[in-house]
Order: sequence, then structure tokens, then C-alpha cells
Amino acid sequence: MKIAMLARNPNLYSHKRLQESAIERGHELDIINTTRCYMNIASRRPEIYYNGEILQRYDAVIPRIGASVTFYGTAVLRQFEMQGVYPLNESVAIGRSRDKLRSMQLLARDGIGLPVTTFAHDPKQTDEVLKVAGGAPLVVKLLEGTQGIGVVLADTNRSAKSVVEAFRGANINILIQEFIKEAGGTDIRAFVVGGKVIAAMQRTGADDDFRSNLHRGGSAKVVKLSPEERSTAIRSAKSMGLNVCGVDMLRSNHGPVVMEVNSSPGLEGIEKATGIDIAGKVIEFIEKNAQPGKTRTKGK
Ligand code: ADP
Ligand code: GLU
Repeated sequence: MKIAMLARNPNLYSHKRLQESAIERGHELDIINTTRCYMNIASRRPEIYYNGEILQRYDAVIPRIGASVTFYGTAVLRQFEMQGVYPLNESVAIGRSRDKLRSMQLLARDGIGLPVTTFAHDPKQTDEVLKVAGGAPLVVKLLEGTQGIGVVLADTNRSAKSVVEAFRGANINILIQEFIKEAGGTDIRAFVVGGKVIAAMQRTGADDDFRSNLHRGGSAKVVKLSPEERSTAIRSAKSMGLNVCGVDMLRSNHGPVVMEVNSSPGLEGIEKATGIDIAGKVIEFIEKNAQPGKTRTKGK
């Protein structure tokens, strides 16, 4: 197969591993810098230009679109979809998961456990909103945050209120969430491929950080999921419509609660923690599923 991977940095561990695995399994894989693609979107024959030339047709495309380029990246991916190229994850599914509010609404609609989460526009309602979230301790999150930056723990209602007001004053969208203390600074990442959990790890934050992000100095180790955690991960992937994703959960005393579904999950932490060949399993999924015209939504 000829596979395109939409990515900006060819040297990232995840991207190198996917390319290696594709080549090992007898495929070609070109890394295409998403932001350098340009398109004639009004043409009835959807074309994508790259380095001054029209891109050849591929059998499949692996989107590894960074959060900061979601808008442009999903547009480029849609152009591939309109050509009938099989996307590992569809543009609409990526769009759902990148919007924290929308994805939580969709997960809630499907009955998936979530931390109590509130969202409001008007800063005059801060006291009410904090009350609805259950009161301190509370977690305040930037809607656009990644890698744990922009996730703040407020121990008291007073500090929660001032954090909320500071963000609102700067015109930043946030959500306010119940603090799952019993998770003890540890979260669970389940890696889903094609409706199955193929690997899972537990991440624990550095020293007294309540955030377990590996980018924040957290450490990872393999973990065995309970049947409920496994089914929560699978249902979350289905709810977003993602073939491949990382589902982040906290172990709360009322069962697993989902924080986030990541449509471009990193491979380094989880391959190293579990010893599982995730890249190989992703390419294998593409081999089994990539057929021309098989994309479900084509961006609709
Ligand atoms: P990001 O998308 O920036 O990684 P997350 O929402 O995943 O932000 O939060 C980062 C980390 O903070 C999580 O991995 C988890 O360890 C911790 N965390 C986030 N929300 C909560 C919460 N409601 N209760 C307890 N810990 C939380
Ligand atoms: N195109 C629709 C959207 O962006 C989704 C279609 C669907 O749910 O399949 O929400």
C-alpha cells in the first residue's frame, strides 16, 4: 500500500515508529507536512498540492494532526477523504474529540462516566457554577489546553473563584470539574485500535503533582484494566467515531470517569511501558480496513 502520514515533525518517536512498521510490513509511507499542503477546494476533482506538485493518490492516510493545527489539518484530511482515500481516523471524528465540550457532551449522551463538569459563559454566574460543580476542591481547565498545561487545582472556593475570574477576564474558555482526589495523581490511558483495547498504562505524576502527564514529569507503567474500564474505553472510542485513540480515565470511587479521548495518541510512553508493538498493530488495522471509498463521512 501507499500510505501518507499527515504530520509536521518526521522525527517524533510515534511518527518514526509508524513509518518503520509500515516499511517493515512491505508498504510505502510518505510523511507529509500538513501545514505545507495547499488545496483547490472548489474543484470537483479534489486535489492536494505539495512542494509545487499535485499529490499522487494514496491508499490510506494516517492523520497525526497536532492540536494547534486542528482547523487546517482537518481541512487537508477532508480533501483526502473526498478523494476516497481511507483515513485511519476520520476528520469529523477528530473534530469531535478536539472540542472538549462537544466530546464530553457526546460521551454523556452515550452514558459514559465523566467527572461532574460545568461550563458557563457569563462570569457573573461564577458562584452558582462552582456550586453546581460540587464546590472545592475543583479542577479548572482551559478548553484549549494540552499536556497538562492549563489544568489548575483550586483547593478552596475562594481560590477557584479567582482562578475562574482570571481566565474569564483574559477571555479564555474554561471548564470546571469535580476533583477526583481518590485517583491519587494517577490516570489510566487505554489505547484503542479498531474497537479493542490493545494496551493500557497507568501514569503517575511527579512527586506532589496531581497531573499525571508524562510531559509534566510523570512516569508510566503497565496496568491491567477492569472489565468496566475496558468497556468504557471501547464505548468512548465508538462514541467519538475514532478507530485509533487514547482514552484517558481516572479511577474514581464511582467507577472509571473519562477525562479525554485523544485522536493522535503518542506511542513512546505506552510502547515503552507495555512492550507492545503498537505501531505494528496500527498498520495491521490499516491493512485490514483500507479500501478505496470506504471512508464513512467524507467530512460530512
Ligand atoms: P491535558 O489534556 O492538558 O492533558 P487533562 O484534562 O488530561 O489535561 O488533565 C491533565 C492531568 O491532570 C490528568 O492526566 C490527571 O492526572 C489530572 N486531572 C485532570 N482532571 C482531573 C480531575 N477532574 N480530577 C483529578 N485529576 C485530574
Ligand atoms: N458531520 C457531522 C458532524 O461533524 C457528523 C456526522 C456523524 O455524526 O456521523 O458532527
